[in-house]
Amino acid sequence: MDIYSIRTQIELEVNQLNSREALEAFRNKYLARKGIISQLTGSIPSLAVEERAAFGKEVNLLKSQILAIIAEKEKTLAAEKPSTPAPGGGIDIGMPGIAQEIGRLHPITQTIDEITSIFVQMGFSVVEGPEIETEYNNFTGLNIPLDHPSRDAFDTFYIKSPAKNRLLLRSHTSPVQIRVMKSRRPPLAIIVPGRVYRPDAVDASHLFMFHQIEGFMVDEGIRFSDLKGVLEVFAKAVFGKEIKMRFRPHFFPFTEPSAEVDISCIICQGRQLSDVLTSQGKRCSVCGGKGWLEILGSGMIHPNVFKHVGYDPTKYTGFAFGMGIERIAMLKYGISDIRLFFENDLRFLRQF
Ligand SMILES: [Zn+2]
Repeated sequence: MDIYSIRTQIELEVNQLNSREALEAFRNKYLARKGIISQLTGSIPSLAVEERAAFGKEVNLLKSQILAIIAEKEKTLAAEKPSTPAPGGGIDIGMPGIAQEIGRLHPITQTIDEITSIFVQMGFSVVEGPEIETEYNNFTGLNIPLDHPSRDAFDTFYIKSPAKNRLLLRSHTSPVQIRVMKSRRPPLAIIVPGRVYRPDAVDASHLFMFHQIEGFMVDEGIRFSDLKGVLEVFAKAVFGKEIKMRFRPHFFPFTEPSAEVDISCIICQGRQLSDVLTSQGKRCSVCGGKGWLEILGSGMIHPNVFKHVGYDPTKYTGFAFGMGIERIAMLKYGISDIRLFFENDLRFLRQF
């Protein structure tokens, strides 16, 4: 019997020592009175004298290795749970774990962050206002007359409140203009992201709740050209350097003059491809064949607004603009239905 082949055999047997019975049999096979170690020791006198010491050392080493294997296996077996789990307990360590999903920012939050950071780089500060507003801040202070259709209960969510101090869910972010101007003096460069509410019937382009970003700048000598410059930087940062812009005269009670701002269609590039496409029975579905997309409303702040907040309209001028975040995100990402943003369908939200 040579020690080398015994070692090889032990290496094979070690993997089978999965029960107390198997371990006991292993122990008996090698360490019992007539076990293999005993036999090896007993064979020493038959060896040549000069071989005995080296062989004895080898046998002792083997014995201590076998003892170490047994001690190690005993420890493992003691730590193992009984093969039948205790009632109501026991953890299946072979079962796959539950992965933690990594969340992400909602596309509307991402769009707000993106737009806000563009204006912050131009020196604007971010201010937020309450979603429950006074009728004064939402309308009167902004030069919106009592008979204006937007003040109608069909266009604004009013909250049960005393007639003298009527409260409502703000229908735009513009009341924050009043709040800021009443509490601070020019120069002002402010950006106001936030949620607004209107009792609109829900369809692909309307919701009763959506988001706006309001921006305004007030100081001595602010001109319409400042408005154009700021909005051009913004539009090109969001939609790309190639887009063109146009200002269309419009009416808003709180600005004079007022303009709606369009960008050239991001799909057909405003190249009036619509004419060509129409002859083939197709239109650019994004701009409806017009070549332009409306992105926001803007203008020079009305002198009456300055009077309401105690600014001298002969000294100060300023511009203001406001845009719908959902609309910007829909144009930017080619989304056709506003409701997708708020249905919490992860198949949609995971794409951003
Ligand atoms: Zn188009």
